[in-house]
Amino acid sequence: MSTIPNPFESRRGISERRETNPDLQQERDGASFDSMQLTHFLDGGSDGTYRRRHIENLALSDPEYDFDRESSQLSLDEAFKTALKHHVQLVRKTKEFGFKDKDYDIYNYFAHYLNPSSQVKKRLWRSGGPMFELHANQFQQEKWLKDIKDHRIIGCYAQTELGHGSFLRGLETTAEYDKERGEFVLNSPTLTSTKWWAGTMGWCANHALVMAQLMTEGKNRGPHPFLVQIRDMDTHNPLPGIAVGNIGPKYGLDAIDNGFLRLENIRIPRMNMLMKHFEVHPDGSYTPAKNAKVINGGMLRIRCQIPSQSASILAKAVTIAIRYSCVRRQSEMQPGAPEPQVLDFQTQQEKLFPILAQAYAFTFTGKALTKLFEEGIQEGLNGDPSKLLELHAQSSVLKAYMTSRGVTGIETCRMACGGHGYSRFSGFPTLLTGASASVTVEGDVTVLLLQNARYLIKCFEGKVKDAQCAYLLKEGYSRPKLGGKLKIDTILDCMAFRAKLHVNQAFTQMSQLKLKGVKSSAAWNTSSVAWTEAAIAHAEYISMKAFADTLPEIPNGPVRVALHNLCLLFGLHVLVRSSSRVLIQADYLSADDLSQLELSMLELYEAIRPDAVALVDAFDFTNRHLMDSVLGRYDGKVYEHINKRAEEYNHGRPEVHPMYEKYLEGLIKSRM
Ligand SMILES: Cc1cc2nc3c(=O)[nH]c(=O)nc-3n(C[C@H](O)[C@H](O)[C@H](O)COP(=O)(O)OP(=O)(O)OC[C@H]3O[C@@H](n4cnc5c(N)ncnc54)[C@H](O)[C@@H]3O)c2cc1C
Repeated sequence: MSTIPNPFESRRGISERRETNPDLQQERDGASFDSMQLTHFLDGGSDGTYRRRHIENLALSDPEYDFDRESSQLSLDEAFKTALKHHVQLVRKTKEFGFKDKDYDIYNYFAHYLNPSSQVKKRLWRSGGPMFELHANQFQQEKWLKDIKDHRIIGCYAQTELGHGSFLRGLETTAEYDKERGEFVLNSPTLTSTKWWAGTMGWCANHALVMAQLMTEGKNRGPHPFLVQIRDMDTHNPLPGIAVGNIGPKYGLDAIDNGFLRLENIRIPRMNMLMKHFEVHPDGSYTPAKNAKVINGGMLRIRCQIPSQSASILAKAVTIAIRYSCVRRQSEMQPGAPEPQVLDFQTQQEKLFPILAQAYAFTFTGKALTKLFEEGIQEGLNGDPSKLLELHAQSSVLKAYMTSRGVTGIETCRMACGGHGYSRFSGFPTLLTGASASVTVEGDVTVLLLQNARYLIKCFEGKVKDAQCAYLLKEGYSRPKLGGKLKIDTILDCMAFRAKLHVNQAFTQMSQLKLKGVKSSAAWNTSSVAWTEAAIAHAEYISMKAFADTLPEIPNGPVRVALHNLCLLFGLHVLVRSSSRVLIQADYLSADDLSQLELSMLELYEAIRPDAVALVDAFDFTNRHLMDSVLGRYDGKVYEHINKRAEEYNHGRPEVHPMYEKYLEGLIKSRM
């Protein structure tokens, strides 16, 4: 292994300073704060930064994580091979270094990002893992958990079928209990019952956690998890009765072998149904779970992690776009003046600064959600169903909102980089395809928004108490006082009012339909667009609240001022750009108020501009984190690297492409 660089010198060393593009260096020199102060805050202190960088450097300096070509240029097989090699190295190194808990997460996260097209592999590799740990009783944990953790059992989570994903009860795979032999018999009775999409099922997994309809005592007890061995432990061949394979090329994430699975009379022992919360007894009698929601608990954990990952991906995209926008000079702002940095155009700021504000808001919201999960999951599983409900509602709406905003944010950043943004060397394609998978995996965006909306109804009616939804019961919102210096509390109050307004409108629309005799289910469907808007407005409010709640933790000074401005911008942008109509209709804001808010927003762009680079530097991404983007490099040597990568691309290729002779030559030389 090559020498491990000093965690504090490796990315901010003197030599880097000398080599940095002068425009970017000027941005850093002119910022109102040292970005490292903010990095420390994000890491929970300078020790946190030191430790994180040290662990990242262990991965960065490990030659086994070779990474010659951007993974989007690899064939599917090459991408898979590289990811697999990296993963095995990751498992070895994690053991060797003895990483646990947070250290494990940092190493695991970073090493996986060395091969970005496998970025969700870390989740999927043992994706049955969270479900297994949640549902396995003590006997089952003792029997299998060590093998799962040691990667002898390579698991996958097989819920989705060809015909059903979102609607769990619609699954068709069956698991029928045979009490004579004390076994379950699993079958895929139809084409549409074929398990589809499970990550690592295609080529890697030797076991699957299969969700199947449990049939016992002649009754269907609904979907339950079953641990099924699918490949031989010696030869890796599919076991008799099992048809398994890869579902083929996807939109992205080439390194992940998503698979299909068909089961024909597969017999497994009774104890292979995970039975911590429900049980099938030897005589076939069934004890249901105390809390029916527990079946979704494993997904909950992953859903609570995805928002933080979305925040990180968005932060990467905006880092690339802002650094590039400081290096890129184009056009004339004043006749005869030097060409400006494109970030000086107000329109460029309108594209990028709200995304920068989102990246921070999502970072803090993701942290708050992780905390809520850690506090709530045990209480929930130990019998307080309200905690599970709250977690489910929060994670659903934040996952849906943040992943979908992440995708639009990345694409906006890509467009903000002009032609070079469209090059694969920009890093955007890999970020985008990874992010767009997150919108769908672990729950479709609309389905999750609507699940949250049902929870909002309960809170709105006062049937469920949840501090995050207390604003729904608050009466007497008064019109905001907008004179003088704009306060975060004022904007937060507007966001709360706006979210309540959306909930109220959807609720009224649905209730009126019911009063007219429309059936509940039809009334729900007819008002569902309004409900998705309400859920989004709720997510926007709680994201701004998480941001605002974080500000007092930052010591007084320029860092706090910079984040204060971003927090205000986050709320203002939502109010001005996506709610003006409803707020005026509700007589909450006048047209003049909105003009004033818009003016404040544009003034914030000017305030944020000098700190834009420091604010993205503070995320402390290495070039590797940024998919080796030629546009987002820390040193800003954009043109040199665009050119270098093109030269590398052409290296070893003949100057005249062989297809010239085959097709083009005849066309050019013909005398048609
Ligand atoms: C990269 C990737 C990895 C995956 N990995 C796994 C895995 O490891 N294991 C696994 O089991 N699955 C996996 N999946 C499957 C994934 O979980 C499902 O695709 C996802 O939950 C969406 O379900 P669906 O495909 O049934 O979509 P559908 O529900 O069919 O969605 C189609 C459309 O119908 C709409 N719709 C559906 N129901 C409603 C409703 N009630 N109200 C309004 N609109 C509705 C949706 O909004 C969407 O617009 C993976 C998928 C991807 C893309």
